[in-house]
Amino acid sequence: MKVGVLALQGDVREHVSSLIACGVDPISVRRIEELRSVEALVIPGGESTTIAQLAEHYELLQPIRARIREGMPVYGSCAGMILLADRVLDAIEGQKTFGGLDITVRRNAFGRQVDSFESDIDFNDGGKEKVHAVFIRAPWVEEIGKDISVLATVTSPDGQSHPVAVRGGNLLATSFHPELTGDHRIHHYFIEEVARPALVRGRDR
Ligand code: GLN
Repeated sequence: MKVGVLALQGDVREHVSSLIACGVDPISVRRIEELRSVEALVIPGGESTTIAQLAEHYELLQPIRARIREGMPVYGSCAGMILLADRVLDAIEGQKTFGGLDITVRRNAFGRQVDSFESDIDFNDGGKEKVHAVFIRAPWVEEIGKDISVLATVTSPDGQSHPVAVRGGNLLATSFHPELTGDHRIHHYFIEEVARPALVRGRDR
């Protein structure tokens, strides 16, 4: 499977390592030809405003939107989640996203309580072990559309539960950074449960 990591800004190398650990040989995507050559894409954590601006500058914004509409499997972590969201709260003025996931995310949502924190959370992939989740100025999901499944939640100090991992069709997003922990379960889930079945379905069409 040809998997790309969007390499405009953010923790690209860590995602590349996680994907290699899952048995794929990823390439960095900075140019349109590289985007065309991949079947699935990972959008790293970093700064969603910067990644969107660079994507526009490198003329990747519209092409990535088009590939998402055509069904390309994409996984976004943290800033990547924001970039996959259809709606963003606490965005900067004019902030653009690739969109495709029918969710509303709030940027820097945990920021008012704690900037960064770690937590062991349940990830609803059938596995029993908890996932060690690292949140760095992370968003949470404030609203989900009807075809979105929630795969993990975190409870904020006021007792409210917030989705931090969601899936809608071929798109997967997490507020946290599995690429930083050496636990490759989320990447494995993306490759084996989201991307591979989607690509097989696409080939059978
Ligand atoms: N707060 C960042 C943003 O809005 C995301 C942080 C991260 O990816 N670690 O893009």
